[in-house]
Amino acid sequence: MVAVVLSITLGVVTTALYFVKRNMQAAIATEGFERISAIAEAVDQKFLSRRTLLQTFGDSVEAHHLANSAVLQDFIIQHKSLKDAFANVAFVDLNGDLVAGLGGALQPGKINIKDREYFQQTVARKAGVISQPYRNRLNGMAQVAMTEPVLDTHGDVLYVISGAINLSEHNFLGELANVKFGKSGYMFITNTEGVVIDDPDKSRILQRADAKGGRNPAADLAMTGFEGAIEAKDRTGLQGLYAFKRISQTNWVLGCIYPRDEAFAQIEQIERYTWAGALLLTVLVGGLAFLVMRSQLAPLTRLHEHMQVSRTVSSYLPMTELPPENEIGDLSRTFDSLMLERQTAQERLKASERFLRDVTDNLPAVVAYFDRDQRCLFGNKAGLAMRRRTQADIGTMTMKESLPDAVYEQLVPQVAKVLAGTPTRCEGTYDRNGKEGFFECHLVPDIRDGGQTVGYYVMTFDITRQKVAERERAAGEARIRTITDNLPALVSHVDASLRYTFVNAHVRVLHENAELVGRLMADVRGLEDFRMIEPYVQRVLAGESVTFEKTGYSTRGTSQNWYQSHYIPDTDAEGVVRGFYAMTFDVTERKRAEIRSVESEQRLRGLTDNVPALLTELDRDERVVFCNGRYESWLGIPPASIINRPIREAVGEAHYEMRKPLLARAFAGEVVSFEQTAKLLVGERTLQTTYLPQRNAAGEVVGLYVLANDVSDLKQKQMQLDTLAREDALTGLPNRRSFEERVREALARTRRSGVPICLMFLDIDYFKSINDSLGHAAGDAVLKEFGRRLKESVRETDMAARYAGDEFVILLEDIAGAHEAQQVADKVLAAMRPAFVLSNRSLQVTTSIGIALSEEDDEDFASLMATADSALYAAKKDGRNRFMMAASRSVTRHDSAWPRKESLAR
Ligand code: GH3
Ligand code: MG
Repeated sequence: MVAVVLSITLGVVTTALYFVKRNMQAAIATEGFERISAIAEAVDQKFLSRRTLLQTFGDSVEAHHLANSAVLQDFIIQHKSLKDAFANVAFVDLNGDLVAGLGGALQPGKINIKDREYFQQTVARKAGVISQPYRNRLNGMAQVAMTEPVLDTHGDVLYVISGAINLSEHNFLGELANVKFGKSGYMFITNTEGVVIDDPDKSRILQRADAKGGRNPAADLAMTGFEGAIEAKDRTGLQGLYAFKRISQTNWVLGCIYPRDEAFAQIEQIERYTWAGALLLTVLVGGLAFLVMRSQLAPLTRLHEHMQVSRTVSSYLPMTELPPENEIGDLSRTFDSLMLERQTAQERLKASERFLRDVTDNLPAVVAYFDRDQRCLFGNKAGLAMRRRTQADIGTMTMKESLPDAVYEQLVPQVAKVLAGTPTRCEGTYDRNGKEGFFECHLVPDIRDGGQTVGYYVMTFDITRQKVAERERAAGEARIRTITDNLPALVSHVDASLRYTFVNAHVRVLHENAELVGRLMADVRGLEDFRMIEPYVQRVLAGESVTFEKTGYSTRGTSQNWYQSHYIPDTDAEGVVRGFYAMTFDVTERKRAEIRSVESEQRLRGLTDNVPALLTELDRDERVVFCNGRYESWLGIPPASIINRPIREAVGEAHYEMRKPLLARAFAGEVVSFEQTAKLLVGERTLQTTYLPQRNAAGEVVGLYVLANDVSDLKQKQMQLDTLAREDALTGLPNRRSFEERVREALARTRRSGVPICLMFLDIDYFKSINDSLGHAAGDAVLKEFGRRLKESVRETDMAARYAGDEFVILLEDIAGAHEAQQVADKVLAAMRPAFVLSNRSLQVTTSIGIALSEEDDEDFASLMATADSALYAAKKDGRNRFMMAASRSVTRHDSAWPRKESLAR
């Protein structure tokens, strides 16, 4: 600011001063010249007036015809006025001798001026002249002389009047001599020869101006005729302002010198004041401006300091002072927000750097960045660990230093490539704790704007496991190929995009050895064939194992053949289906046989469905291999629903438990046959069931044929016959019918006689197990033997009969009392004690007996039977192989005669 004010002030002042000075100098010079001109004019006037005086004087001398010198002397004395104008006025004759003068008469010849030029000129021209300065021969004073000729009547020169003017006297220039130019400026007069005519220094008069040496260019110029003002140096080197004017009467040069210092003293004074003022102004304005600006810019200064401080500290603190509401405040706020943004950005950068480091440190890979000079600028933990480097080495170590030598050697060409701007990857080997390890290295160039590669990223993974696995896989694949090529099957693998990834030799042969791997299934097989398998493909891709049969393709001429295909999903560890294996077998032969067997089975079924029997075939695992249509019409069970299911499920758990021992026997090789009543859809029917073991060539039982004939009609007929018969066919004992008749007769007699009858109800113990373990025939044999022994145990008059199944009954008439009945019961039990000898074995058979005595007159068969039955039940419950008396039903009457409690046989 100060500099600006200063330079402006300087410029203005300098320009102003320049013009002022120039004008003033011009004015001074003009003034000097005017003054000198005026003086020259005045001098001219003086010479003119003297000339006039001399002429008038001369004219009067001529008029008086003064020829005598003494007269002349008197005459001159009379003209006192001459004295004022000249130092001396004298008459000179033609010889040059001074003849009269104001200074008094002189002896002739004393002073002669015949040699003076001005004398000779005056005589020659007959007119007055003004001489060049000269030195008076008497007193030695510097003088000029004005002459005037005195002519005679013939016009010849008689005398020359010479008026001398003392140059050193004031009277010549008068007060003009006192004209001053400044303090030390002065005026001088020289002639055109350079001889000084007047000068303040009187000693110089008549001397040449350059007598003391040196040149004055201004004076030289004036000599040649210059008039005017000029600035020049004088002989002493003093700069001065000169003005010159010619005195026209004498052709002298009137000059004045005005020392520059003095001439311009005032200007310089003004200049000094101006400069001082300007300087003061500058200082004041500058200072004021400085102070104002300083106070205005104080916030900026503080902001600057704040900025300086902020640069050095790590975390930025905003200014505590509230910024003013102006541009600086805006600047401050902008700086604050920029710094905070920068800080946030830095923190974010740091965080992201930390994050990056955390991420890369936890990667199972070496991650690094190198610059153009292969200097490492970033390396993750794994990378640094390779050569036991630390973070401190970042920025200093090179790629070569950070890697094992053998590894670096392998990467050299890759580094060259990546530095040329091409991303590259390679695989290599390294020493993995003494074993061969494999790595995969990716190098990615860091290309900046302008396409320059400034560095590169390196990422290296350990792929040893993959490599080893790859090798194993390759070996495994070769094995698989050998196996699959030798399988009599078409084997292939298809990926999820339905492209073949593997086909065995048979598949290739089928397709004339075309390259199938990588091709789409639909393309290879043709659209028609692919449409056929597409649903199965969709299912296998959904994760299901699919098996299906189909004919071959017409295009390949295999449409007559049958193929069974197995599609097995290929899932990864997560269970995602990434493709499937396809295995296809030629099953034409089997298929044809199957078709044949299906046809024959249909024929068989046609036959068996019309047989009035349930026909079943069981395999060794008791599964239903076949059952005929009667299952449907008799039991409401569709054959298909139980085919291949265990018979246990087909018939129900309870029924199966009953049949289990019989099945076991049949599977052991015995033909088992039994009767049963069953509730069929057509009503209750009696079925005659036979288990027929089915043997293979080796004679082993491999299954059973089960035939269940409906024998209801037969049975009914038999029963009708039975009811007509009075004797049990098996044992030869009276049957139930004849027994009932006999009992009713006896009861009628009892009512008349009042003698009670006794009814014994017998049931063979565990007879079912005999039947089950030894077969029905053995059971029959036991019944027969039991009946025989029973008949022998009673009197002829008593009646032993077979009531039903293994139930037998005895009627005792005319018994004395209960004890007698007990004796009979004991006898029966004893009779059964000897072992029953059957065809190839002997067994113990026991029986339980319930005894009932008729009591009331209104006793009938049913109630008596019921009483005996409940006594039998009690005997069974009590442990079997014993008898039990029924309790007396009329306590009052037979209390003593009939013990209430049963008595044990033993
Ligand atoms: P318990 O000691 O309780 O009498 O047992 P158990 O095994 O003898 O059972 P139950 O008296 O109820 O069984 C009679 C069985 O006799 C039922 C039936 O299969 C069988 N059965 C019925 N009539 C004949 C037949 O004429 N011959 C043969 N072998 N068995 C018959
Ligand atoms: Mg029994």
